[in-house]
Amino acid sequence: MSAPGYLDALSFARSGASLEGELRADQLPRLQSNLTSDDAAVQYRIVGIVEAGRPALSLWIEADVRLTCQRCLEPFRQRVELENVLPVARDEAELARWETDDPLVDALVADDRLDVASLVEDEILLSLPVAPRHPEGECGAGFQA
Ligand SMILES: [Zn+2]
Repeated sequence: MSAPGYLDALSFARSGASLEGELRADQLPRLQSNLTSDDAAVQYRIVGIVEAGRPALSLWIEADVRLTCQRCLEPFRQRVELENVLPVARDEAELARWETDDPLVDALVADDRLDVASLVEDEILLSLPVAPRHPEGECGAGFQA
């Protein structure tokens, strides 16, 4: 399986391009260091869209990862499914304007060599819990009443 490489974020968004594929944990070193085992499989799809007049990357990610429960210290499987739309600003000045309008905006600055694996990895890392735990009732460290 080859690495997905790079894309030009702004022209990708404007042209409505799309890209999908699969990544393994060993292609995602920062994520890998958070996982209990290396068998994570990550599927992703990136589609260029224009939303509210802004070029954007629509991102869909599905992954199965193994985390360590911080309560009982046993590994467990966690399913990650996320969808996010990331507007692409032309430059830092435009991004700053967007952030003034909406301090919570989650946007990228145009990059003609956007690292696809790194983008997917960032989104997964942001979605993982800070202190992963078994779902209620499934943890061996004690029963919930
Ligand atoms: Zn547990």
